Amino acid sequence: MPTFLFDKIVFGPVKSRRLGVSLGINLLPVDGKLCNFDCIYCECGWNDSGKKHGSLPKRSEVKQALSERLLIMTEEGTLPDVITFAGNGEPCMHPEFEGIIDDTIELRNSYCPRARIAVLSNSTLIHKENVRRALFKVDQNILKLDTVNEKSFRLINKPAPGLKPEKIIDDLQSFEGKIIIQTLFFRGYFDNEKIDNTTESELSGLIDAYHNISPEKIMIYTFERDTAAEGLTKISLPELNRIRDRLVAEGFEVEVSA
Ligand code: SF4
Repeated sequence: MPTFLFDKIVFGPVKSRRLGVSLGINLLPVDGKLCNFDCIYCECGWNDSGKKHGSLPKRSEVKQALSERLLIMTEEGTLPDVITFAGNGEPCMHPEFEGIIDDTIELRNSYCPRARIAVLSNSTLIHKENVRRALFKVDQNILKLDTVNEKSFRLINKPAPGLKPEKIIDDLQSFEGKIIIQTLFFRGYFDNEKIDNTTESELSGLIDAYHNISPEKIMIYTFERDTAAEGLTKISLPELNRIRDRLVAEGFEVEVSA
């Protein structure tokens, strides 16, 4: 803390470490985070940070905001490399997510056909048929897996009770490789527990899961801004590079950002 919230439906463009020039779409409220995880490293703060959440934007509002922004960018000659669903929480929680993806594809095809459409998701809702259909339509389906260890999963991501990493891995596997995995590495202390998802047992567990999922690519990174919890430490670029080298030796395509 303090942490960072996006104050619009369409934001940027920003120069993303991972994606290039990215025009962001936030399908969540602009006055607080709304997510079915509550990751301790979240840069948007905690779910219950005391703010009253506004409503979710309507599908028509998202389409209009994106259309207006792309028109301005066309006139300025500054069209993005990628249109990215991210923002103040989990984008797949939006009840009109699939329709919004369809609208975005239509607008992308008309204004900037070379731009990619990316979704950054925490993987918890990918078993839902409408979410799954939508994710198969986008160019970069970027799904989170930070740990396969149940205790670490509870500490790091704070999922709903009963959700286990095995279920997430099964769901990720069901995409048959049309998927990019994102893993955020960090270490620190929270609730008097030491957390470190770079240890040998964490890494070997992740490598087994990556082999089962067989993703197109793995993005490894660390947090960039202030985090919800205090006392967390970023992983240095040389250390991320060592993890990358190990994953490359296992046969994976890996991208590092720090
Ligand atoms: S999944 Fe993303 S938005 Fe949700 S709590 Fe974790 S970092 Fe924050």
